[in-house]
Amino acid sequence: MLGFGILKGMAVTLRRFVDTYVADLRHFPRRYASGPVYERMGITERGAFTIQYPEVKVPMFPRYRGPLILLTDPETGITKCIACGLCERTCPTESIKVTKAEEKVEGQKVPATYEYDMNTCMFCGFCVQICPSDALGHSPELETGTYSKGEALMVNLEQMLELGRKHAPGGVWPVEEKEAQPS
Ligand code: SF4
Ligand code: SF4
Repeated sequence: MLGFGILKGMAVTLRRFVDTYVADLRHFPRRYASGPVYERMGITERGAFTIQYPEVKVPMFPRYRGPLILLTDPETGITKCIACGLCERTCPTESIKVTKAEEKVEGQKVPATYEYDMNTCMFCGFCVQICPSDALGHSPELETGTYSKGEALMVNLEQMLELGRKHAPGGVWPVEEKEAQPS
């Protein structure tokens, strides 16, 4: 019948519209239910649901590949990076530059400088995969936007270590992520 598809589509929209308010009432007075925000976004939920970003933030998915972080060994307090340069050589966009320090720290080679260029990084994860000392990981950071490119998106050694301490205080990035093949 001519126009049947349009009516069907409108019925779905109407149902979603009503379901949205019904679900809100069901969870009243707690907008986000008792668990994580995901609960209101689950497949068992009906209707549309939006979060009040930026006041409310959805936890980032474990496989999300954010800007790189450098991990520190919590026992020694020294970076796990041994300045081998494999990440630099593997990066397809030449977004990493690392130099080795002249002196070892407690018998371990360490980087003197580490420059990570987020302007060109495509978050492929090759550098994380190749790192022999599991010193690299991806942060869950997503609010990295700037009004200008260039220096604003350059990350140095100290900043990467700081991000590592913030996002992986145990000095470990999830192993399953390390084992996952880059797509
Ligand atoms: S994630 Fe990919 S593009 Fe970015 S620095 Fe690592 S290897 Fe280079
Ligand atoms: S981050 Fe890993 S691959 Fe890159 S220089 Fe350090 S130890 Fe080598």
